[in-house]
Amino acid sequence: MSTGMSVRVVVVGSANMDLVATAPRLPAPGETVLGTDFTTVAGGKGANQAVAAARAGADCVLIGAVGDDPFGATLREGLRGAGVDAALVRTVAGPSGVALIAVGGDGENQILVVPGANGALTGLDERDLAAIAAADVLMAQLEVPVATVTAAARAARAAGVTVLLNAAPARQLPADLLSTVDILVVNEGEARAVAGRAHDVLDALLELVPRVVLTLGARGAAYADRDGTRITAPAPIVSTVDTTAAGDAFAGAFAVAWGEARPVSEALRWACAAGAACVRTLGAAGSLPTRQEIDGLYRVAA
Ligand code: ADP
Repeated sequence: MSTGMSVRVVVVGSANMDLVATAPRLPAPGETVLGTDFTTVAGGKGANQAVAAARAGADCVLIGAVGDDPFGATLREGLRGAGVDAALVRTVAGPSGVALIAVGGDGENQILVVPGANGALTGLDERDLAAIAAADVLMAQLEVPVATVTAAARAARAAGVTVLLNAAPARQLPADLLSTVDILVVNEGEARAVAGRAHDVLDALLELVPRVVLTLGARGAAYADRDGTRITAPAPIVSTVDTTAAGDAFAGAFAVAWGEARPVSEALRWACAAGAACVRTLGAAGSLPTRQEIDGLYRVAA
């Protein structure tokens, strides 16, 4: 528990390098199109949520894997620069996770993701387990092998550490993972995928896990638990520039607020402020808000 010190959040998840090329239009298969711009952006839901939690005020450790290519070193440096403890990020033989993103004229895009090193995060060692046991919150997503997520969640649960699962990318979840989850954080598409149906989704999810946080884009977020608590929070109104990583900003902030044992209505509104602060600026990891920025929007919206 937090005793005046920062909340400790351990993230088990992915780190990717996004390679973003812009062109007047997307190429057809076999065609070459001359592009106009190129940029590399550090991403991956694991790394993004770790940075989000660190910026929101946590002592944050990422358990993950990068390749032995130049992207791996860059990703590791980026995490450190953002205040994330990357000592448990392995360097494995082969490529780092990458996303090849082509952006065409009307913002239409084409994305090819190669998990690379993320797929090699197949086991947890003593240091990983010790970090998890010493955490306040374990946060995971589904861009690394689900068996690894399950092992981490089991270890957390055994140590009395809160398990927060962001079920992204959307898929159905195995029962042995579901049985470890304290809080499921999902957007609407993920909620339907996990529930396996489109109606009464919250009720369906509460049959699987004890607490659900549902993000609703510009409409904010909702919380529901098995004790019958139902809370909604509006998203602060902001001018939307880029919604990339809004869900990551939300999840990171919610994990921190929950770890700080703040009332759930406050945690929900604070996380909404983080998501809204993220959409105000362009970029993924670079737009994840600091604690001051979250607090600023939270107060204005209150
Ligand atoms: P994801 O990015 O995972 O699809 P959402 O779109 O639900 O997730 O966004 C996550 C959170 O970010 C929302 O709950 C909300 O708090 C905030 N958010 C997203 N879009 C907007 C927006 N247009 N205006 C204000 N807040 C937003």
